[in-house]
Amino acid sequence: MVRKAIISVDIGATRTRIGIYDYNRMELLKRAEFATNDPEESRGIVERIIARTREILEVLEEIKPIAIGVGTIGPLDLEKGMVVSSPNVTEKTFEIKGPLELFFGIPTFVLNDCVAAAYGELMGGYGKGKKNIVYVTLSTGIGAGVVVDGELLLGKDGNAHEIGHLVLSYGSDIQCGCGGFGHWEGLSSGKNLWKLVEKLKRDYSGKTQLSSSESVSPENLFALWRKGDQLASIIIDELSMINAAGIASVINAYDPELLVLGGSIALKNQDFVRQFLEMVPRYTINRLPDFKLAYYGEDSVLAGAAWIARKPPKKLLETMI
Ligand SMILES: [Zn+2]
Repeated sequence: MVRKAIISVDIGATRTRIGIYDYNRMELLKRAEFATNDPEESRGIVERIIARTREILEVLEEIKPIAIGVGTIGPLDLEKGMVVSSPNVTEKTFEIKGPLELFFGIPTFVLNDCVAAAYGELMGGYGKGKKNIVYVTLSTGIGAGVVVDGELLLGKDGNAHEIGHLVLSYGSDIQCGCGGFGHWEGLSSGKNLWKLVEKLKRDYSGKTQLSSSESVSPENLFALWRKGDQLASIIIDELSMINAAGIASVINAYDPELLVLGGSIALKNQDFVRQFLEMVPRYTINRLPDFKLAYYGEDSVLAGAAWIARKPPKKLLETMI
């Protein structure tokens, strides 16, 4: 018997993941991934998605894909289903919906990656049965997806909650990838935290094993923190305050009953997450929500994109008409 399936795609700044989900059980049957910015690769991101998807579909037997869901880095033009001037990938502007629909001949739904992840939590994760949830990713970048009163927030172009660009330090001279100063993502995302390291290292005269180049990775920093490196501790304390202020601002703006944290920095450093969550009440006015780590873990966007295709949110359908 032919099984109905969903093609799900997560276009991230670092990796692009593809998953084939069973339509009825929403179970992940097969996956593939590739480096989004591969210098050896001359084909575009969407051409590579098509090629890899065909490969994994060939391996699966008796499968009939009936819809495609895509969660992608932004910014988006939701109506056209395309990424426009993305600061984090080599191919900055590219169409997604058009070429995928043309090739596979099935309906394709495109949303911001964190919005997809929030929808996944709402439909199949910790947000089931809830009406007010926020999904925040702490990763290469920082972003969120928001559900208020049961409605997924989208905005005019699908970029309603670029919370990574909340200004958390208006006097800061640290510049974000988008060009703005003192942005949450500019201060503490995986891609940018070396800037804070540089700044704090300049004022520090003690011993440290932390290098001061752009090569400071989150893994390196967290490992030294756990070993008791004093400068790493100062930096982690500062990052904790920044993240607490960011999370608190999100709670103050959206009043969620559940706040889900995803992204590699949160998922791999739960001790750090506990530290900054303790500081959140310092900055909140609204009653605190429950906090959870993402139900689908590293697959949050992939699972969310599959849910988008399985049961498209009403608001997205309205935008597409
Ligand atoms: Zn920014």
